[in-house]
Amino acid sequence: MGARHPNHRRVKLRQTYTIDELARLFELHENTVRSWRKSGLEPIDDGRPILFRGDVVVAFLKQRRVSAKQPCGPGRLFCLPCRKPQEPAGGMLDYTPATPTAGSLTGLCPVCDRMMFRRVSRHRVTAVAGQCDVQFQGEQARLSA
Ligand SMILES: [Zn+2]
Repeated sequence: MGARHPNHRRVKLRQTYTIDELARLFELHENTVRSWRKSGLEPIDDGRPILFRGDVVVAFLKQRRVSAKQPCGPGRLFCLPCRKPQEPAGGMLDYTPATPTAGSLTGLCPVCDRMMFRRVSRHRVTAVAGQCDVQFQGEQARLSA
């Protein structure tokens, strides 16, 4: 089990973890864990220290593994519950910047109604979105902040 695929079985589902604790658990650099957050690992809230729920960490790591095996074509996001890429409902995607150069595309799965997520570089949004309409969220707020 290499660093590319941290063993999610080490995570206790009902426990919360800091970035530091996750890094030690998986024997990874803290920056690797921080990069997961940018890739869509959601903390429990905006508080400090940043805490992640064990079950959310496990779901995130599982999705990464499956996503790596099934690259999504343009206009599709990987749906975790469906375990495969889906076209978003209504052909609509939201782009939410995480940094000035990268962010995430989200859309609703037409099959299971769950939110789908895909990390993407800002300059690749159009290519990744394919035929989908993309709403750009919060870029003004970021620029003026
Ligand atoms: Zn689905």
